[in-house]
Amino acid sequence: MTDEELREQLLDHASDVDIRIAAAPGLLEDIEMLVVSNYSPGEALKYPNLKVIQKTGAGVNNILADRQLPLEIQVARLQTTTSGNEMAEYTLAYVLQEQRHIRRYHQQQSRSKWISYAPRRSSETTVAILGLGRIGQLVAQRFIDNQFKVIGWSRSHKNLPGVDCYVGEDGLEKLLAMADYVISILPTTQETQGLFNRKFFEQFKAGAFFINVGRGDQVNESELMQALDDGLLDGAILDVVSIEPLPEQNSLWLHPRVQLTPHISGYHLGDAIVDIAENFRRLESGEALLHLVDRKRGY
Ligand code: NDP
Repeated sequence: MTDEELREQLLDHASDVDIRIAAAPGLLEDIEMLVVSNYSPGEALKYPNLKVIQKTGAGVNNILADRQLPLEIQVARLQTTTSGNEMAEYTLAYVLQEQRHIRRYHQQQSRSKWISYAPRRSSETTVAILGLGRIGQLVAQRFIDNQFKVIGWSRSHKNLPGVDCYVGEDGLEKLLAMADYVISILPTTQETQGLFNRKFFEQFKAGAFFINVGRGDQVNESELMQALDDGLLDGAILDVVSIEPLPEQNSLWLHPRVQLTPHISGYHLGDAIVDIAENFRRLESGEALLHLVDRKRGY
């Protein structure tokens, strides 16, 4: 979406607000809220009266990583059921592709081979969800609805119907030993950056798959490729990578056990745009904003 399109959509819900685009910001002193999909370090300092940075998505790691971001500036994100459901659909699609050997049949067709494989039963398959927040819970429910066994991991303990929940390093180790598919929907924080390294993949059950729809900087990509080559896991599906767009010469492109998509698993904002308009109103009236990020915790 262009800045102008976003402005027009926001005006539909907040016609009385003075909404400007980055290309024509007018007096910088007037700006109290920045609405961003991408954020560059130091950007906040351009606006002397800035109070809020509103992200048009869920991941705020780039904003929080800005060491120059003044402490008094609030950061808000979006929580959209629309893109959460799209991510549930994406992860289920890839899991079913493997369960029903669709990728394998596609490769066979190119060699005119007629060989059948028994589909893997959902009820005998365990899916682990790392991150049981807004999106993780929607993904978990989608797999429960499709008869998979679902286990999950989060920072604080959760009690979710149909999900065996784990916390901590020990919990992660137990969960990885059981999972046929490990799906990560974690935010990037100091604790999760680089979490998916050799040691992590060494704990995988043989033949398991890793699906990452969280953030690319959580994966040590060269250790992932080595782990795939060493047979520690069977395949990786990455919707997010450490450098986006992924440079043409990056070896992830050609790895036979890696499937890539260009950060599209959660695509549409849906009606979350209304929450941005609501935050304009709340800022004006001094009420607490929706979906504020805990800057200390990092998400
Ligand atoms: P939430 O903040 O609702 O949930 C985050 C979850 O991660 C929580 O369950 C939290 O635990 C858990 N978590 C955080 N840190 C740790 C840790 N150190 N150890 C274990 N668990 C941890 O976020 P959302 O579900 O809305 O979004 C998650 C992420 O998904 C976003 O930050 C973004 O990076 C990514 N995303 C990707 C998209 C795409 O298109 N690929 C689209 C949208 C989002 P607890 O519950 O205890 O707090």
